[in-house]
Amino acid sequence: MTDDFLERFRDPRTAASIARTLSGVVLSRPVTIMHVCGTHEHTIAREGIRSFLPDRLRLVAGPGCPVCVCPAGDIDLAVAAARLDGVIVTTFGDMFRVPATDGSLEEMRAAGRDVRVVYSPLDAVDLAREHPEREVVFMAVGFETTAGPIAASLLADPPNNFSIIPSLRLVPPVMRFLLERGTGPVEGFLLPGHVSTVLGRAGYRFLEEYGVPGTVAGFESTDVLLAVLDLVRAIEAGPPFRVTNLYSRVVSEDGNARAKETISRVFTEDDASWRGIGVIPRSGLRPGPGFERFDAVRRLGLVRPAHAVDVPPGCLCHRVILGDAEPEECGLFGTACTIRRPAGPCMVSSEGTCRARFEYRRARRGPEKR
Ligand code: SF4
Repeated sequence: MTDDFLERFRDPRTAASIARTLSGVVLSRPVTIMHVCGTHEHTIAREGIRSFLPDRLRLVAGPGCPVCVCPAGDIDLAVAAARLDGVIVTTFGDMFRVPATDGSLEEMRAAGRDVRVVYSPLDAVDLAREHPEREVVFMAVGFETTAGPIAASLLADPPNNFSIIPSLRLVPPVMRFLLERGTGPVEGFLLPGHVSTVLGRAGYRFLEEYGVPGTVAGFESTDVLLAVLDLVRAIEAGPPFRVTNLYSRVVSEDGNARAKETISRVFTEDDASWRGIGVIPRSGLRPGPGFERFDAVRRLGLVRPAHAVDVPPGCLCHRVILGDAEPEECGLFGTACTIRRPAGPCMVSSEGTCRARFEYRRARRGPEKR
């Protein structure tokens, strides 16, 4: 993709024109649409896109940040691993500071345990090769997009002292959960660009069973504005609804067959807990037949604390993750909870909704409204 091609999606005049059209839409009733992608929230907050929504339209953030939805109990397992002599715990940077029941991995490192930030699972595999006398554990957090590289690392014959704490989550099951829970009805989904590269447009056909439209969107302001406009027009026009792909420069109809095949060779779907939500059937991945030896929980006999604390006192992350509350409704937002001193996971991760809102709260208000 050339820079010239991408510039078309970054042109402020185009964005302003779409924003004007979107602002002028007249909705016949209140409508809520949801995105499930932390990067979309960043674009929306940074560009002030909510200020261009038509009256009666709510655009809420859902469970689109893998670090935010990782339950405290899974981080507690990594903390337990870090406490074991001879173990090196590796993690993506976003997970390093997330508080769990007995503190964070950052606090473990401050206490002298060997916790290291890596940029990919292969870095952790390299570390295991460099230290054959030690156990190297990788905290495997992410959605479908991250599951592929982690599965590939387990297929690439890693050394015997390498294992993972599986905390991978799948997006379609949590979307089904949101549609079935009966409160806070979502009438359309802005679909996540990164995850969609794996799933393809076809990965969301289930939305048609629920009679709900979805639009796959990229990450430039024009991408998001166009996708929101597409959704509101579809909702106003009424059924039958379908899934639209407005990110076809990256997302195909069937997604990445090789990534899907790699994931299914290594991992098995499993019931999984989401922070503040609870267990959702078949919404997670664990090492499947032939790969169980890479499961650090079994290998090292790790045990979650009996009373894992998912949400610290006063934190509304569990409601923010479901789109039931805005970050600004939390009494700790911007006071006891800031990027420098986060109280909850949604303020820690670069994909967290609270962090995006806090980071851009005084940012530019998007393309000028006319
Ligand atoms: Fe949790 Fe902080 Fe967000 Fe409040 S502002 S919901 S404490 S992360």
